Amino acid sequence: MPCANCQRVLGRVKWNCVEFTDENAPEQMRNKTGVYAIVIRKRGLQIDTIRERLKPLLEHCNTISPEGGRFLQRRLCPLDRIRQHPKCVILYIGRSGTSPDRTLHHRFKELSGGHPIWPALWALLYHGWKLEFCWHECPDPSTMECTLMRRFCREHNASPMKPALNTNWPPKCRRNDLPTE
Ligand SMILES: [Zn+2]
Repeated sequence: MPCANCQRVLGRVKWNCVEFTDENAPEQMRNKTGVYAIVIRKRGLQIDTIRERLKPLLEHCNTISPEGGRFLQRRLCPLDRIRQHPKCVILYIGRSGTSPDRTLHHRFKELSGGHPIWPALWALLYHGWKLEFCWHECPDPSTMECTLMRRFCREHNASPMKPALNTNWPPKCRRNDLPTE
């Protein structure tokens, strides 16, 4: 039987639920802000088994990049806490932001590993690359992004050339007469 406490938590609010693997799920929460819960609908392999199966991956990471291995290990720690709540169905409760770029739609996509370059980054990190995350604070990020993309393009002397992992031009760039591929 699922945990009655979790059921009571969920029962006090009206929820719209979508499967994590549903490709169309994000559309349903576009432009919406609010709270969310990640809920177990069906338990799969035991956490102990999952841990066993992850061992070779972690060992592989540690061999090639100890920092990468430690990073992944830290990110996997929450798995172990699931063991302490064997009947709970609520895995996580969170909220969106209130600005248009921090909606539930965005949160869902982030949680699904939804950023398109996420797998590529991990493939690099797993294979000994070191990558930095660098940022710049500015009031109008989309204009700045476009400026940087144009700069990248111009500096490479190639008509519409994008950084390797950029698949699309930011919409703002497209509107402003950037050459199309
Ligand atoms: Zn519970």
